[in-house]
Amino acid sequence: MAPRGASVRDEGNEMSTTARETTADAFERRLSTTPRSAQERDALIAQPAFGTVFTDHMARVSWSADGGWGDRRVEPYGPLLLDPAAAVLHYGQEIFEGLKAYKHADGSVWTFRPWANAARFAQSARRLALPELPAEDFLGSIEALVAVDLDWVPGADETSLYLRPFMFASEAFLGVRPARGVDYLLIASPVGPYFAGGVKPVSIWVSQDYNRSGPGGTGAAKCGGNYAASLLPQQEAYARGCEQVCFLDAATGTQLEELGGMNVFVVHADGHVETPALTGSILEGVTRSSIITLLREEGRDVVEGTVRLDDLRAGLSAGSVAEVFACGTAAVVTPIGRLAGTEFDLTVADGATGPVTAAVRSRLTDIQYGRADDPHGWMYHLA
Ligand SMILES: *Cc1c(COP(=O)(O)O)cnc(C)c1O
Repeated sequence: MAPRGASVRDEGNEMSTTARETTADAFERRLSTTPRSAQERDALIAQPAFGTVFTDHMARVSWSADGGWGDRRVEPYGPLLLDPAAAVLHYGQEIFEGLKAYKHADGSVWTFRPWANAARFAQSARRLALPELPAEDFLGSIEALVAVDLDWVPGADETSLYLRPFMFASEAFLGVRPARGVDYLLIASPVGPYFAGGVKPVSIWVSQDYNRSGPGGTGAAKCGGNYAASLLPQQEAYARGCEQVCFLDAATGTQLEELGGMNVFVVHADGHVETPALTGSILEGVTRSSIITLLREEGRDVVEGTVRLDDLRAGLSAGSVAEVFACGTAAVVTPIGRLAGTEFDLTVADGATGPVTAAVRSRLTDIQYGRADDPHGWMYHLA
């Protein structure tokens, strides 16, 4: 496969990559001698709590400043041997990705826009001064691991195999500089429907005390450090009776940015939709980009711009804002039923799932699960 452009929004070219080259065959198979039995596996797949159960193997590629990327392998899933001086444990030089493998009704297995994740992983690497993993290796690791652990891809409604690529500084060195030894790993976890018992609107705490990123920071990179910074505000949200936190821009504290791990959309009563523009402190979601495309395709005006908290509050109170939702790979589309902050507590869409939110969720999941055509060539055949 040819290396992709740098943006998540690299549409159009995706269709031409059915004939592709990846390094999947270069991954040496060092298979587990103690894989779970079929019964154990099926029992684990039947009750997947998000991110707690992992397949029998993981894919791995190592990098050194002298030798570059090498030693591609699929090996038994298990604890890592890490030197206590490994740089990641001290300075947090780490990035990750998240995507899913979906089983279609005919038994084939697909993933969604992995080129976009590969491109974003490279962008994140650049920001964290980590080496860029070639897209061929990113895709190759997914193909190689899913081939070995294919039986772990669940087939029930709205289930999937969650894929977690990540990269970290493994060099043992306490000096402050980019590590000269880095590891890339891919682990996989069967996951059930994010909302057991149907999609349920969540409540959002708008954090006015904390920011997750700022101008010139790492907000546009998918790195563990951003998540570390979001945990205390997330606790504050819980303490305020909310499930998730929404962050405002660090510069003015007046504009919505995103949740800790999801982008946000506002649906107006007149039908147009707004989402915060990519200012450099927001993570560019693949789901966000796909939803913008799908909404525009149905003729909606989608504005990527400034979403001021004051305007949103006024719009909710006046009824000119009809729906608010969040989106990301894990939960796909999450309706927001309540928006609260230190001075306000507002119900959104009567606390229910609005029609635009529900429709775009179905449209996207229908493509991902092969229930609808894929006019954009977003799906990537794995097995
Ligand atoms: C991963 C992530 C998202 C969602 O991205 P998707 O590609 O849609 O899964 C949004 N915000 C943050 C901070 C993220 O880390």
